[in-house]
Amino acid sequence: MELAPDRRSIVARGLLALPLLAACSSDRGGAEPRSGPNVLMIVVDTLRADHLGCYGYERATSPAIDALAARGTRFDRAYTAAPWTMPSVASMLSGLHPTSHGATHYKLGLPAEVPLLPEILRERGYRTGAVISGFLIGGRFGFDRGWDVFHEDEVRGQDHVSTPGVTAKAKELLRELADGEEPFFLFAHYFDPHENFKRHPEHAFAPPSAGRLTGDEPAKALRRMDDLTADEVGLVVDIYDEEIRYTDDGVAELLATLRELGLEDETLVLFTADHGEEFLSHGWLGHVTSLYEDLVRVPLIAAGPGLRSGHVVEWPVSLVALTPTVLELLRIPAGTRSFQGESLAPFLFPGRDDPPAAPVFFEVDMGDWEGGPDTFKKGLVDARYKLIRDDVTGEVELYDLRADPGERSNVAASKPDVAARYGDLLERHRARVTRERAATGERELGAEDLEMLSGLGYAGDDR
Ligand SMILES: [Zn+2]
Repeated sequence: MELAPDRRSIVARGLLALPLLAACSSDRGGAEPRSGPNVLMIVVDTLRADHLGCYGYERATSPAIDALAARGTRFDRAYTAAPWTMPSVASMLSGLHPTSHGATHYKLGLPAEVPLLPEILRERGYRTGAVISGFLIGGRFGFDRGWDVFHEDEVRGQDHVSTPGVTAKAKELLRELADGEEPFFLFAHYFDPHENFKRHPEHAFAPPSAGRLTGDEPAKALRRMDDLTADEVGLVVDIYDEEIRYTDDGVAELLATLRELGLEDETLVLFTADHGEEFLSHGWLGHVTSLYEDLVRVPLIAAGPGLRSGHVVEWPVSLVALTPTVLELLRIPAGTRSFQGESLAPFLFPGRDDPPAAPVFFEVDMGDWEGGPDTFKKGLVDARYKLIRDDVTGEVELYDLRADPGERSNVAASKPDVAARYGDLLERHRARVTRERAATGERELGAEDLEMLSGLGYAGDDR
């Protein structure tokens, strides 16, 4: 990572801010001060930003996440690098776009030569632990690299309610890591808002039924019904919201444990999601198959001592920036590694204006799969416009998000200059990420793997 001259002052500010973290370690009963702040990264699968209270949702789905946003910085327009789990999480942990890290298809997985954040932190003396609950980011696909402890017992398919197990394991691991003298990086991945959507009646957002639906229908069955009514879709969304509210309780417990251990004042907390979910706003129920806001706009919250509190960043930012952001905040040099995301650290310190916005890119390359239509798309967004290009048909969509946040009106034909300019930016980005691509190779998938993938909607479907 190269620091531009004006960025050095940001690092200097980080140097001033972060010793606060070490200064608070005496709260832990006289233990030796840690040599750096801890990092807790919480990722909730399939969580749309606009279904959280702190992002303006009218329903009380997220008290714990809202409280975290109130004590930290909330990025109002954060974007995943890809609209499904594997490439998105690989981008968070590698600082590379999907084309470059190569985990663009479930048959590929994550190439061994792509350096991951836990590996980098472990080299620097951090203890690292992960609790994951999604098959596509398991050891099977190369995501177990760099962790001292890697729990994937909660990967049990799309019908398993995993939040209690993830929370229990993450709390246990947090206590273990907190006992050590080294700083730690804990990664907790929640899965419940992912299909199939399960009722949590204690939260009571959903009626007993709607039209033909009882709410027990698997997502695949819902996708086969091409005439779902507004009420029926509403029921599916209500149940999705119950999943979010249920998961928020798990997040609350984990954050409470951090506080009880006296670690809140020496831990950088990052909260985000790997992608959102579409509920037929553009003809699809699920994820993977488009780059519309429902899928690519995700929550992102950063909180920690010395960092801004109650701040909201309006500019679009990318989750590809997470790895360089963590390294900059921890004052760990990138060495010879290069990242494609610009650190978000400049946004996080008090007394600064937000830095200028840069365009944010996302992509999906999903062919030869059974879960839905083959999809090869690239896109970018900035403060106002969003461009999506279909690599197969060549079709270009341009949206003025200020006037048309729902992406209903394609203005590519009426604004050819804007479309051409953004098309050029996309082309330049594509050339760079292709040039910096890691070697990839297909993985051998067995019958059990294919069955798991089928359950998740990727392979073996009858569509
Ligand atoms: Zn996912």
